[in-house]
Amino acid sequence: MDCLFCAIINGEIPSKKVYEDDSCYAFLDINPQAPVHCLVVPKTHIASADEIDEQNAQAVAAIFTAIPKIADQLGLQNGYRVVSNIGEDGCQSVKHLHFHILGGKKLSENMA
Ligand code: 5GP
Ligand code: ZN
Repeated sequence: MDCLFCAIINGEIPSKKVYEDDSCYAFLDINPQAPVHCLVVPKTHIASADEIDEQNAQAVAAIFTAIPKIADQLGLQNGYRVVSNIGEDGCQSVKHLHFHILGGKKLSENMA
C-alpha cells in the first residue's frame, strides 16, 4: 500500500521522532501550524477516524494514553489542542489516521 505515514513509521521516509511505543509513533509536522505541532499515528494502517471500530479501537486508546506523555515531553504544560481531520470536508490530506497536537501559544478560539 502506498501510504506516506506507513512509510514514515517504517523509517523509509525520515521524520523527527518525538515518541514511540508498541502501537503508536509521534513525529513533528513538516509544516508546523503552531510553535509546537506534532502528529501521532497508530502503527497499524487505519484510514481515518471514520474507520475506528471495535476491532481497532485499542490502537486509538493507546494513542490517547500516549498523548499526555507526548505533551509533557513537548513542554505543553499550559494546554494544547488535539485535532483529527476526516475526509474531504475535514480537509484530510494524508489517509492514515493521525492526531495533530498543537500548542506552544494561546490558540485561536475559532476551530472551523
Ligand atoms: P491532514 O491535513 O491530513 O490533517 O494532516 C497531514 C499533515 O501531515 C499536515 O499537517 C502536513 O504538514 C503533514 N505532512 C505531510 N507530509 C509530511 C511529511 O513528509 N513529513 C511530516 N513530518 N509531516 C508531513
Ligand atoms: Zn498508512
